[in-house]
Amino acid sequence: MSLLMDDFLECLSRGYGHSDKRICHDCVSNYALKSYIIEKGEMKICSYCGRRRKSMLLENLMAPVMDGIRFMYSLAVEELPVDEGEFVGCTYSTEDIFSESIADEIGASCEEIISDMVSLIGDETWCDANPFDVSEDEAEFNEWQRFCKLVKEKMRYVFFEAKDESESSSSPMEILNYIAACTQKIGLVTTINKNTKMYRCRMSKDEKYYSSLADFCPPPLGKAYAGRMNAQGIPVLYLTLDQKTALDEVNSSERQFASVASYRVEDSFPVLDLTKLESIKVPSIFDAEGRTKISTIRFLKKFNEQISQKATNEQIDYVPTRIVTEYFRFLNKGGSSQYQGIMYNSAQNRGGKCLVLFLSREDVLKRKHGIHIIPNQTMYFSKKYEWTSEEEKANLLYVTRIIEETGAKTLSEISEATGMSKAATARLIKKLQDQGILNKKLSETQPPLTKVI
Ligand SMILES: [Zn+2]
Repeated sequence: MSLLMDDFLECLSRGYGHSDKRICHDCVSNYALKSYIIEKGEMKICSYCGRRRKSMLLENLMAPVMDGIRFMYSLAVEELPVDEGEFVGCTYSTEDIFSESIADEIGASCEEIISDMVSLIGDETWCDANPFDVSEDEAEFNEWQRFCKLVKEKMRYVFFEAKDESESSSSPMEILNYIAACTQKIGLVTTINKNTKMYRCRMSKDEKYYSSLADFCPPPLGKAYAGRMNAQGIPVLYLTLDQKTALDEVNSSERQFASVASYRVEDSFPVLDLTKLESIKVPSIFDAEGRTKISTIRFLKKFNEQISQKATNEQIDYVPTRIVTEYFRFLNKGGSSQYQGIMYNSAQNRGGKCLVLFLSREDVLKRKHGIHIIPNQTMYFSKKYEWTSEEEKANLLYVTRIIEETGAKTLSEISEATGMSKAATARLIKKLQDQGILNKKLSETQPPLTKVI
């Protein structure tokens, strides 16, 4: 009798009963439950798929399942007030919580597994884990939104301690510290090492091309234009991780000529890498370690999405990101990694990555971090032509002019008129065609060529 009573009390306290069915790792798709079964299971026949696999008693799997459920839900009796015999607040049955979220999270191979779990837990009345609070990520994101509104609309230079009327709200300094703590908790750091290739574009209205390090430095003191990550007059070095993003980020209709330099550095240094957030998955509630990061990751994802958006009014919309940049540049000295810059998603080229390095013009000229431009790799672009060297540029212009002047139509004619080999002529023609400058496919038999400028 007392053994039965002990067992009854144990089931009551753990929140689920007994089952002699076995479940294997192939019968759940949730990564945390799968590894739990692989780690603790034995090679025996699974009651659900009938195969011999690493498996365990279903009731043993209920321990992590229950921990996950208790992460999201509480028993109504523990949290909700009662009025005239009814709970005040939103409640759910055990079946409700499975159909609302738990079943999807488990990813069971058959309905029977879910119904067995529901009966093991039995009829309970559940409510949200914190029924009267918004989730931590929502609360912190609201604080961030409040911070943005404050610095965009009310005060811009003396905001650190400002709080709104509600005593419970965070000060701007607290929300910035919270963001920094989140980035450290999730490890949003990337090392820029000496083999990382980076790009920077400089545009001009006239047919003017740049090549030296001095040409590609941040502007002199006082002349720096404001950008997403810097205020007017305060220089930083903007780079991208690919050429197209470099062009897209500075795209401007009235400036037609662009030079894109390739950079390298000699040192390795850490940067805050917000682009990592896209590939970081929100952990499962059944992952005992991972679930402690759920709200942090959700917050950072929302934060990153918001600060990567295109601006409608740059002078106002970029104020919060400029403050975040200065915070990481000058105030956030914590942790082992003092970030030397911030990597973020390009708003102009989806999938492209931008990097802002905390470097002034002087820093770049003094080659801090061993920064340098790779010789002979600067690419030149215009609305009409794209070439990789001054020599190629001259050849492309030459071939175009010869076609125009002589009316040469076939590869042989063009090759003869230019005095270049057929192979070299064909390469240049292909390049002009790829860029839409020559729009007909060239062959010996199918003239004519049409030049489109
Ligand atoms: Zn199975």
